[in-house]
Amino acid sequence: MKDTYRHKGLRKKLVQTLYKKGVKDEAVLQAIATIPRHLFLEKAFEEWAYADKAFPIGNKQTISHPFTVAYQTSLLAIKKRERILEIGTGSGYQAAVLSFLGARVYTVERQEMLYSKTKELLNTLGFKGIRTFLKDGMNGLPDHAPFDKILVTAAATSIPNPLLAQLKIGGILVLPVGEKVQKMCKIVRLTERKYSREYLDNFKFVPLLAGLNKEE
Ligand code: SAH
Repeated sequence: MKDTYRHKGLRKKLVQTLYKKGVKDEAVLQAIATIPRHLFLEKAFEEWAYADKAFPIGNKQTISHPFTVAYQTSLLAIKKRERILEIGTGSGYQAAVLSFLGARVYTVERQEMLYSKTKELLNTLGFKGIRTFLKDGMNGLPDHAPFDKILVTAAATSIPNPLLAQLKIGGILVLPVGEKVQKMCKIVRLTERKYSREYLDNFKFVPLLAGLNKEE
């Protein structure tokens, strides 16, 4: 679990790339400059950990592109001590970024293998502000609701109602919506009953699937 000067240098370059692609949020760029993304990938991909690319993390899943992580995180406008629900723990990298920004992170994964592996990694790396759950995130996390912000890192074909219900008034929900290609959707809960909805750029995520998976 080494983080060398070379890794740090590569992260600096990645931050410059993201800045050029339009990420301007200083705190988010700082998180990406600091978190050792190579430790969240399989050893075989370490060489490319700081390219703006998605990689397999096992169980047919991928760690999102750094640009996607930066884009979604910027939309959430995280403030210290906010309670954030993430659906799709995957490698844990996105959760680490949220935690670095001072959020109290509740992250949910449906695949047991990924859940166990990532829970251990986050512990080893000392991310104490992250709580991991093995659950179907389509139901949100009713026992811990409401949340200041909710982030979905898998493609939803429609907006899950439980997530809307578990958002605080004034809270933000960010999720990719669509089939093959998704539009990033930003929802703000304006009142008990009223939500604003904005559709932004196109992305490609792995699908949000119902139910737990203990075998794959
Ligand atoms: N945020 C991750 C990217 C994960 S890819 C990272 O930083 O690496 C999407 C993840 O969502 C996959 O691990 C997939 O298993 C998970 N997923 C898909 N549907 C889900 C659901 N209904 N509940 C919880 N996790 C889900």
